[in-house]
Amino acid sequence: METVKRMEVPIEIRALKTANVYDLSDNILFDTGMSENSFNIIKNNMNVKQIDKIIISHLHIDHIGGAASFNKNYNIPIYISSDDYDYIKGFVSSESNYFDSYLAMMETNGVPDNILSQIMSSHPMIKFSDYYKNLELNKIDFNIDNFEIVNVPGHSPGSIALYSKQDKSLLSGDHLLGKITPNISVYSSDHDYLGLYLNSLEKIKNLDVHTVFPGHGEPFKNYRERINEIQVHHKKRIEKILNVLDSYKTVYQIASEIEWSKSRHMETMNPMEQNFAIMETMAHIIYMKNHNIIIGDEIKGLKRYITN
Ligand SMILES: [Zn+2]
Repeated sequence: METVKRMEVPIEIRALKTANVYDLSDNILFDTGMSENSFNIIKNNMNVKQIDKIIISHLHIDHIGGAASFNKNYNIPIYISSDDYDYIKGFVSSESNYFDSYLAMMETNGVPDNILSQIMSSHPMIKFSDYYKNLELNKIDFNIDNFEIVNVPGHSPGSIALYSKQDKSLLSGDHLLGKITPNISVYSSDHDYLGLYLNSLEKIKNLDVHTVFPGHGEPFKNYRERINEIQVHHKKRIEKILNVLDSYKTVYQIASEIEWSKSRHMETMNPMEQNFAIMETMAHIIYMKNHNIIIGDEIKGLKRYITN
């Protein structure tokens, strides 16, 4: 029997409040919370000296943010999938290119300048760029006893989950969450991240899972039911987008017109939430275009879409 110990640490993201950190067989830490604060809580609740590796489910700051302190204070190496590794290294080595292409992508998708400047200052990669620059990372190049590393790209370029066949448990990172629908964003405009994500959901559907240990919230057991709910959620969002595409519209217009979860509209959101809503819409639009559900054109540098 594999031991999986869950620790819930507070994080500095109001909508989520906490993230999970897992201690596997006392020598591997899976995820690290968000900050020095998470590091201190973890350190006080386990025997850090026994940890010989840190494995990160995906590159988001609320999972990787506590890692640097373990590396600095205890010399524990940090491992991440090669796709997330490459993404972080690409970003760090050419930050200005990254932001130029991000800005260009937002502008061609119709985001007004005043909104864009507000969004930029709350963008997580900008906010934490110094942290990512100083982070010492390694690509995962080993197997873990009793756990299979499952590649589940979509929520990030190289998200991973850990699966124990013996215990029928899945440490899902943010690929599968019990109460929240994982956010799907766009990391580069030439990839279909929603398509990747939905493929990764199909991929894990056939695993024999008794308990899911997610990246946020309580462990849960209704595995396939939860996968179905998330698939239905994306189908419904596609329907909502189609319902407003009676004429050519930009991604920004679509994101402003559709109703978001908890019956919210984009104008009531803070800049960070607006960024998520625009990116999530863009990910759906790329997927819908790939599947010939919509068609698009580009006029005077503005991309617009309509039902096919
Ligand atoms: Zn995440």
